[in-house]
Amino acid sequence: MREELKLLEELQRVDLQLQETDQALQALPLRLQALKSDVEAVEALLGRERKQLEDVQRYRGELEQSLRRDQDQLNKTKAKLTQVKTSREYMAVQREFESSRRLINEREGELAKLTAAIDQTQESVARHEQELEGLRQHCGAEEQATQTQLEALEQQVAGRRGERTALAARVNKSVVRKYEQIRRQRGGLGLALAREGVCGGCRMHLPPQLYNTLQRAETIEQCPNCQRIVYFADQHGAPAVATTELEATPAAPVPPATALDHPA
Ligand SMILES: [Zn+2]
Repeated sequence: MREELKLLEELQRVDLQLQETDQALQALPLRLQALKSDVEAVEALLGRERKQLEDVQRYRGELEQSLRRDQDQLNKTKAKLTQVKTSREYMAVQREFESSRRLINEREGELAKLTAAIDQTQESVARHEQELEGLRQHCGAEEQATQTQLEALEQQVAGRRGERTALAARVNKSVVRKYEQIRRQRGGLGLALAREGVCGGCRMHLPPQLYNTLQRAETIEQCPNCQRIVYFADQHGAPAVATTELEATPAAPVPPATALDHPA
């Protein structure tokens, strides 16, 4: 039974690693998705700016046409001025000339403002195009890195699953089933270390008689409170950290594999 408990401990170690890898696998695409959203946001912004630029440029074209017509009109009025006979007629044409010139001045002012606005928008478009290019490059590199990480993690998972299958095959089937069932119900920990009369899974005191039974390590026993399979670590079996500390300090990260390794 001691051997079986050691195997179970190994099994739980592999299961915890698999769980950790699974979380990493799920987190990877999320980070990439956030980057892609950034790219899309800048693309949308650029789209709006380019549309705005087109509108203003079209309006400037129309204004330039009007200005040419006004200029023609002014030239005609100017020519008329030389042909007027009476001073009254001269005054009327002169007024017409002045009003044409005022209109032209106004249009020229508006044109200058439009041109400045267009310059500004063009600068902004160029800046955002550059930003977008950088973001796309970053996103592409991240995509590649994510792919590499995914492949490495998947390889790791495949290796660990193989390890798990081999381990599970060496333990009594009904014990494995029980362990797996408790694991699902108890947040990933199906096995807990008993130490100083306390269950390492739920921190409840174990009945003294059960604790004595555990010390003999001849049978597979469960904690009456959390149902986890409990075992006693003797002087030879250094307890696995994860099996004792996870529930007591839920925020603590799972220690790296080397820290979990059971001395042979
Ligand atoms: Zn317990």
